[in-house]
Amino acid sequence: MKTEFSLAQLADPDIREADKILRKCVHCGFCTATCPTYVLLGDELDSPRGRIYLIKDMLENDRKPSPEVVKHVDRCLSCLACMTTCPSGVNYMHLVDQARVRIEEKYPRPLSDRFLRAMLAYVLPRPGLFRLSMTAARLARPLTALLPSEPLGRTMPTFLGRVRAMLALAPSSLPPAGPARGKVFPAVGEKRGRVALLQGCAQQVLSPGINQAAIRMLTRHGIEVALVADEQCCGSLTHHMGRDHDALARARANTDVWTREADSRGLDAILITTSGCGTTIKDYGYMLREDVAYAAKAARVAALAKDVTEYIGGLDVAWPQDKNDIVVAYHSACSLQHGQKITGLPKELLSKSGFVVKDVPESHLCCGSAGTYNILQPDIAKRLRERKVANIASVKPDVVSAGNIGCMMQIGSVESTDGTSVPVVHTIELLDWATGGPRPDLLKRSMKGPRVGSA
Ligand code: SF4
Ligand code: SF4
Repeated sequence: MKTEFSLAQLADPDIREADKILRKCVHCGFCTATCPTYVLLGDELDSPRGRIYLIKDMLENDRKPSPEVVKHVDRCLSCLACMTTCPSGVNYMHLVDQARVRIEEKYPRPLSDRFLRAMLAYVLPRPGLFRLSMTAARLARPLTALLPSEPLGRTMPTFLGRVRAMLALAPSSLPPAGPARGKVFPAVGEKRGRVALLQGCAQQVLSPGINQAAIRMLTRHGIEVALVADEQCCGSLTHHMGRDHDALARARANTDVWTREADSRGLDAILITTSGCGTTIKDYGYMLREDVAYAAKAARVAALAKDVTEYIGGLDVAWPQDKNDIVVAYHSACSLQHGQKITGLPKELLSKSGFVVKDVPESHLCCGSAGTYNILQPDIAKRLRERKVANIASVKPDVVSAGNIGCMMQIGSVESTDGTSVPVVHTIELLDWATGGPRPDLLKRSMKGPRVGSA
């Protein structure tokens, strides 16, 4: 794509980067076929190519974001399916991130929108506050019946529609908190490695059992696991809302604490069980590339970051000898398959664990979770969820496996053809169970008798 940035504009490193990205796009439109919003809405401006044109026009002419640009960029899930499809290697992620920052800085959103976004950006990265807000949301949920209903198929979200979506996402109960920060879990037997495990924000409140399963499986296989004190939210949520000031401050703080840990006690890897966070931490080197004090340190942290399945794939695991008859539908989180290009490995590990693994049709399409998307764009998110759930149900699974808490909450549970509810658990919970850990809590309620591992 031909660009016409002036020399003065190109002096700005962000514009230089945007110019490089835009020049790679050859307008072929292959990306439109796999873009969830284009598939649903059929509008070129809700496709990657359409958004690329809108962003190019805004940046090249140094325009303030127009309501049209904001509408179509806001509708983008940042699922990155377009990056997997693009034959020219267009880094859409870095381009849309830049557009979101410009929108956040220069576009006057309505007051209710600003309030909601500020609240989400403040509450979600703080686990204590998030836990309180989940309790409040649960108590307030009956009030949604009093809110006026909105017409079906409405793609322009309203404040009340967003509030309704937020309340609906609150689980009916919360599990007890997981282990405290600063705790180190020693390797069982001979020590073969040492890792830090990202504690996450929402995940440690909604499903602390995920990291507990990771700790069990890793320590059983000779890996010491540290929950590093002073670690923060990775910044992913605010990064995708265009609040770069907040996201970069968190990236710097985490770079400092993990660098200290690596230098003092040694780290083979920084493991992540929430793939949305993993995609962001792996990008720290890029995010802080212009910061002379942090660029090298952040690149080192990014290189240490691994999804938990990547690390387990390199361990000498005593996989069970026997197969079981549990059918697992593998839901491939966008951040894992498109963001980190991890596609076959989780399924391979599940198969080695003895499960019968099934691919989900249209697995490249997002489930609609996408950070805060299911709150900010509730109608599109709901339509994507329904499509995903129908696709999962079509393979008749006993259980659904996913590597991202956002997807797990969005999918919730899947109604099987016989009307029973199919639970959604994290991949590491199944791997842990199959190699000697306890049965995941959700499966205790939904499956009769031990068919694998321990009860
Ligand atoms: S990130 Fe996803 S929603 Fe956004 S343009 Fe790309 S494919 Fe479409
Ligand atoms: S597939 Fe890649 S090169 Fe083709 S229009 Fe989309 S972004 Fe541009």
